[in-house]
Amino acid sequence: MPSDPTLLILPGDGIGPEVMAEVRKVIEWFGANGGPSFTVEEDLVGGASYDAHGTPLTDAAMERAQNADAVLLGAVGGPAYDALDFSVKPERGLLRLRKEMDLFANLRPAQCFEALADFSSLKREVVSGLDLMIVRELTSGIYFGEPRGIVREGNERVGINTQRYTESEIARVARSAFELARKRDGRVCSMEKANVMESGILWREVVQEIHDAEYQDVELSHMYADAGAMQICRNPKQFDVIVTDNLFGDILSDAAAMLTGSLGMLPSASLGVPMENGRPKALYEPVHGSAPDIAGQGKANPIACILSFAMALRYSFDRGDEATRLESAVEKVLADGLRTADLMGPEDGTPVSTSQMGDAIVAA
Ligand code: ATP
Ligand code: MG
Repeated sequence: MPSDPTLLILPGDGIGPEVMAEVRKVIEWFGANGGPSFTVEEDLVGGASYDAHGTPLTDAAMERAQNADAVLLGAVGGPAYDALDFSVKPERGLLRLRKEMDLFANLRPAQCFEALADFSSLKREVVSGLDLMIVRELTSGIYFGEPRGIVREGNERVGINTQRYTESEIARVARSAFELARKRDGRVCSMEKANVMESGILWREVVQEIHDAEYQDVELSHMYADAGAMQICRNPKQFDVIVTDNLFGDILSDAAAMLTGSLGMLPSASLGVPMENGRPKALYEPVHGSAPDIAGQGKANPIACILSFAMALRYSFDRGDEATRLESAVEKVLADGLRTADLMGPEDGTPVSTSQMGDAIVAA
């Protein structure tokens, strides 16, 4: 009999452990109700790991992550660690995971829950029903290209970064986007600046070639990233999957995120190359950070972390039905009017706590 797949939980720092406790409730509920069964392991990352071991990620934890079918991470960092040397900062734990697992495709959904359509900064008709996914290349491009640095030229300083993409780097993230589109609405829009950047010209060519050779069933369009930024704000519902490079993806995914209301609602996934079982290495985490200002007060919204777990069910455990059930439970709880503090204005009544929100989702 094949052994259960493993989920490695890394709660981390700040509100990380608080929101992860609510995911635990969801996992327990599934376990008790005939849902997916997997082995759950837990380890330390970030400041919590530094406090215990003097490093933001131990080799043992790294190895567990490499061997897990999926990793679910809470958040890392906080003011207590600000003065630490760069080499042991909590964020380094997360960077090491991303780098050694070679997680090149970062998936950031922007989905509007109907009950929150009026909470968005945009008009209801612009965001109601919104469900788009941005696939951002995460391990190359201008954040990593060489040469880089600040150098002297004559009597002034020059800051240098290099945008560099190889054909294979573009091809693999394009495939991730096309695969996703097949499971969604079958449409990919690729964004670059082919009008002014060589890497953009190559990006457009390679994405088109991969499409024509392997994914003719998916509808492909191209857009300049600046026009794309405008369209994401003006008419985001025209998009299904957007695929773009590291820099543009960083900016466009934050812009798209704000269509939906709160940081406390946003999940993410980072996927790497396929493992022996055919599924990609994967790290799931809420978009938000450790939120030190509200840590330890029971105020954190656990939905971003719970939706990250839903993504794990869908993409790492082949449990799309359970993922949809979980997302529907979130939708129902919101429709019933439950709100954590981040989802309401000052005059909107009394917020529920982190654990009340988790309990309500489990009940739903
Ligand atoms: P990082 O540097 O780790 O990205 P950050 O300083 O950018 O962290 P976050 O922790 O991401 O900040 O969050 C910014 C603010 O948004 C928090 O200080 C908090 O007030 C609010 N916030 C973030 N996540 C949540 C959440 N899950 N529930 C409620 N409020 C949140
Ligand atoms: Mg931040």
